[in-house]
Amino acid sequence: AIRALAPPGPAVATTTGGLLQLPRALATAIEAAGAEIRTGRRVTRLRRLADGWEAEVDEGTSVRAPRLVLATPARAALDLLGGILTGTDLSLPAGSTITHVTLVVRAPALDGAPRGAGLLVAPGDPVVRAKALTHASAKWPWLAATVRPGEHVLRLSYGRPGAPAEEIGVDDALADARLLLGAEIEEVLDARVVRREGALAPATPEHRASVAELVGRTATLPGLTVTGTWVAGTGLASVVPHAHAVAGRLTR
Ligand SMILES: Cc1cc2nc3c(=O)[nH]c(=O)nc-3n(C[C@H](O)[C@H](O)[C@H](O)COP(=O)(O)OP(=O)(O)OC[C@H]3O[C@@H](n4cnc5c(N)ncnc54)[C@H](O)[C@@H]3O)c2cc1C
Repeated sequence: AIRALAPPGPAVATTTGGLLQLPRALATAIEAAGAEIRTGRRVTRLRRLADGWEAEVDEGTSVRAPRLVLATPARAALDLLGGILTGTDLSLPAGSTITHVTLVVRAPALDGAPRGAGLLVAPGDPVVRAKALTHASAKWPWLAATVRPGEHVLRLSYGRPGAPAEEIGVDDALADARLLLGAEIEEVLDARVVRREGALAPATPEHRASVAELVGRTATLPGLTVTGTWVAGTGLASVVPHAHAVAGRLTR
């Protein structure tokens, strides 16, 4: 009866095809405006010039520009700014690793979405290592439309704040999914494991204070601004307007 009061479906919105559509659209707009995007490169060093900034990329090439928007996560920003900012007393932890395992399964027993759109797992469970399970094809109608009858898309999430990184594979996720869903999963048709290092920054007052101190010190650097979730707050509704605002100020 309680289940019937909470039918499967999202409490939030997404784009048809998933949020991946957003960076794709952004890349298309950036290239249409004449800019070049280089992916799979790491900025290893920043240098202040008399009239701007130089970013050393992968120890070899470098890029010069009059203005620089630094949008890496906090720890990488601190590493890059370490030799430029005054004082060396700041430190930021790298954050915990999270892993997502997406499973496409044949499991007609899931047709009725026995756990709705998904569930959270309380910390300390002696058997289940996942912290959350999303029955993605029950949550998103556009995704349900991409699988055949009796097939489902599941996503299991691993990694809690402050916890050491774990090696998680498809078999681990499948075992957790079977337990959490309490239903037979006949076959895994496809699977993808994605690990995000340092994705979970601590949410402590000390961390917020270190971030505020770092952001304050960057304000003294002409032609440079910092943005990203560690400055703006989590979620695209925070990140996108913040990036707009600071980039706008830089170009005025
Ligand atoms: C699984 C997951 C699901 C989420 N779902 C939602 C959602 O549904 N809705 C929502 O609003 N928010 C969601 N969020 C939160 C949202 O994704 C983040 O708040 C947002 O992506 C953060 O953007 P960012 O630009 O600050 O960081 P990121 O997107 O992490 O971008 C930082 C980039 O910096 C790059 N980088 C790091 N170091 C260097 C270096 N030295 N040189 C060059 N590049 C470097 C990294 O490779 C990365 O691409 C989700 C987050 C996760 C992890």
